[in-house]
Amino acid sequence: MACFQHCQRTLLRPAYQFISKLQVCNSSSSPNGYNFALNDTQKEFQELARKFAREEIIPVAADYDKTGKYPWDIIKKAWSIGLMNGHIPQDIGGMGNSVFDGCLIAEELAYGCTGVMTALEASGLGQTPVLISGNKEQQQKYLGRLLEEPLVAAYCVTEPGAGSDVGGIRTKAEKKGDEYILNGQKMWITNGGVANWYFVLARTNPDPKCPAGKAFTGFIVERDTPGLTPGRKELNMGQRASDTRGITFEDVRVPKENVLLGEGAGFKIAMATFDKTRPPVAAGSVGLAQRCLDEASKYANERKTFGVPISQHQAIAFILADMAIGVETARLAWMKSAWQVDRGERNSYAASIAKCYAADVANKCATDAVQVFGGNGFNSEYPVEKLMRDAKIYQIYEGTAQIQRIIISRSVIERSKEKL
Ligand SMILES: Cc1cc2nc3c(=O)[nH]c(=O)nc-3n(C[C@H](O)[C@H](O)[C@H](O)COP(=O)(O)OP(=O)(O)OC[C@H]3O[C@@H](n4cnc5c(N)ncnc54)[C@H](O)[C@@H]3O)c2cc1C
Repeated sequence: MACFQHCQRTLLRPAYQFISKLQVCNSSSSPNGYNFALNDTQKEFQELARKFAREEIIPVAADYDKTGKYPWDIIKKAWSIGLMNGHIPQDIGGMGNSVFDGCLIAEELAYGCTGVMTALEASGLGQTPVLISGNKEQQQKYLGRLLEEPLVAAYCVTEPGAGSDVGGIRTKAEKKGDEYILNGQKMWITNGGVANWYFVLARTNPDPKCPAGKAFTGFIVERDTPGLTPGRKELNMGQRASDTRGITFEDVRVPKENVLLGEGAGFKIAMATFDKTRPPVAAGSVGLAQRCLDEASKYANERKTFGVPISQHQAIAFILADMAIGVETARLAWMKSAWQVDRGERNSYAASIAKCYAADVANKCATDAVQVFGGNGFNSEYPVEKLMRDAKIYQIYEGTAQIQRIIISRSVIERSKEKL
């Protein structure tokens, strides 16, 4: 966990003065075992992100949703006060924050607008392969660049013909001298049109019998490489501030220095990334669910039917209670999955539970919030219609609800065999 004194580059930013405590302890290092308390620095980060969401995101969220404009203004402000890139290691000038800390921030920002949060979070997704498998030079060059300027990265794995089935991707990379030549098509890439560089997964072994664990290679690809062309911004149901595009690769030349870990290691890197990125996606879902609960509770106390606020009808009060149960338990789920990976433990099972459960909770809370608002809930003048549209993608990206259940059930079945 970070000691801010060492973060020279980031300390230059005046807004860090908000965060007074210099020494912080890891949330996962409590000598008493499980611990539900945040340390002082975590509370300050949470407070900073909460304030930022209320003052900088909520007032403009509906406008970004309507226009689909990329939220560069918000990103620049978030970057300048240290709400982005917290996970970058201290030895290259970052804060070296834990996954847990990143999740705390993600939940607060998502409360403001999950479209904005996804734009920020997808940069973390693009960076994580470099974080977990990049050598010092690669980290210095590509992660360091993101500390110098408010730039974003992207993660390019999905293709028009293969999303859940990552082993089915067809973008290929052929080695020619000291370079690889990439050809293919990616789809649904968040930050696709705005990223400064991409993590790209491509097939390097053409033999269809080659196992996925050896057939693919992970590359860092500069945005301005000739032959790399982002498509149009997709018009999505929700999270419209986020920039989703297809990307075409036509004879894109990538130096061999930009291979992560080594030829054939790409599939494992792409999958291992999710252990660190699913907890923040789950935290984002919880932020949205909490927002639904808050909006619905407020409305239920204001709106009267049959002479009383609708919160006094037990049918409505119980909807709020169920929403609260979901929010609280989904929050515990992301916390556990983040805590586990920060301890260096394998967390794929907990991360899938958190991602899957929090996404389902977000969708239920959003639908329930619309119900509490009645006819007004169906109208874009009120906040919950956007929340319902925004919630849906949480059950799809970073592994669909079905794929998470496959991961969870495999783990359960394997463990059960071990017990026999
Ligand atoms: C807004 C948005 C942003 C995204 N951002 C990114 C990004 O930044 N980078 C990136 O690489 N990708 C990104 N994606 C892609 C996303 O991860 C995929 O859409 C997702 O993994 C599902 O893949 P698919 O769309 O090909 O659906 P498919 O894999 O075709 O699945 C279709 C349906 O079948 C189900 N299904 C598939 N296989 C099975 C199975 N074995 N058992 C049971 N059910 C199954 C799925 O759950 C789903 O319901 C994004 C997508 C969207 C929409």
